Amino acid sequence: MQNPLDWLLGLFSLDIGIDLGTANTLVHVKNRGIIINEPSVVAIDRSSRRRNKVKAIGAEAKEMVGRTPAHIVAVRPLQDGVISDFDVTEQMIGYFIGKVHGNRAIGAARPRVVIGIPSGVTEVEKRAVRDAAISAGAREAGLVEEPMAAAIGAGLPVTESVGSMIVDIGGGTTEVAVISLGGIVVSRSIRVAGDEMNEDIINYARQKYNLLIGERMAERAKIEIGSAYPLERERTMILRGRNLITGLPEAVEVSSVEIREALSSSVQVIVDAVKATLDETPPELVADLMEYGIVLAGGGALLQGLAQRLQDETRMHVYVADNPLTAVVMGTGMILEKPEFYRETLTSMQRKSTIR
Ligand code: ADP
Ligand code: MG
Repeated sequence: MQNPLDWLLGLFSLDIGIDLGTANTLVHVKNRGIIINEPSVVAIDRSSRRRNKVKAIGAEAKEMVGRTPAHIVAVRPLQDGVISDFDVTEQMIGYFIGKVHGNRAIGAARPRVVIGIPSGVTEVEKRAVRDAAISAGAREAGLVEEPMAAAIGAGLPVTESVGSMIVDIGGGTTEVAVISLGGIVVSRSIRVAGDEMNEDIINYARQKYNLLIGERMAERAKIEIGSAYPLERERTMILRGRNLITGLPEAVEVSSVEIREALSSSVQVIVDAVKATLDETPPELVADLMEYGIVLAGGGALLQGLAQRLQDETRMHVYVADNPLTAVVMGTGMILEKPEFYRETLTSMQRKSTIR
């Protein structure tokens, strides 16, 4: 039973769900929906006497990339699915919570926060994330592993005694997890996902055409004509970059067949991770997966033909979630709607010891 003070505070408090993704951070607020969707990027001034002074966070930081003096650098503190820089991550969490919480009239309303974190993070890193949320004003901070949040957000029956498989392909990491009874039974996290695919395209253009292209161009090619399975109608697009031999700007037409070839080894690594996870899954749960299928989430799930390719290789039904880019943050929001129901799914929960 909640004590009356908690209940009263609850009436005024905000429930904030955060997807701390390697590429994008999303924030969901109860009764308001997703109100923030920004890149997980922080611009840092390396020249500052105060070490690593943060210049900008999120969309503003991404805008700065390539347009600022060399001493201002953009970092993605979660790029590899681990927290590479506590300090910067803490400021990023504080910024996003502050943006919602801001200077609301009811100062006493301290939000309850649930944060989705990559499943590879250590206990020390988890503590750092929780502390960051508390110091940014959270009354309670719960952590949930991203594949769990993605599965909840995708509508899978995670608390039932039936196996579900989620494959979350983000920017920095791909996480594969089999979930049953509110817990992760088997999982695997690999550092091959959307970023690596962009790199593949950059390398391909360099090796085949001596063409140096930027990351944004590569990402566009991936999204527009990239695929993991032959397309009904193969397509072409123009890659613009600089010829490495002449040093001059150049445009090269590439086909979707070539981009598929460029992406093939990364796609294979993801396919193999799914197969290896299936191999480790207890037989009863495999039987459930054969019946209900595998669900894909994360931006990488949108790669054309990926579901088809996985379906061919695993001989199971593979679906893309309805909301691949927002499944994790919607999952955190659903946990906050029914915290008792989803209690098991949280990796840890910390409550501020005194509520003022
Ligand atoms: P994270 O959870 O790690 O922040 P996201 O789930 O937001 O990552 O996914 C970001 C990745 O998804 C990026 O690498 C982006 O290029 C990729 N992506 C987004 N849309 C598509 C698409 N239509 N096809 C292929 N990849 C996509
Ligand atoms: Mg994600």
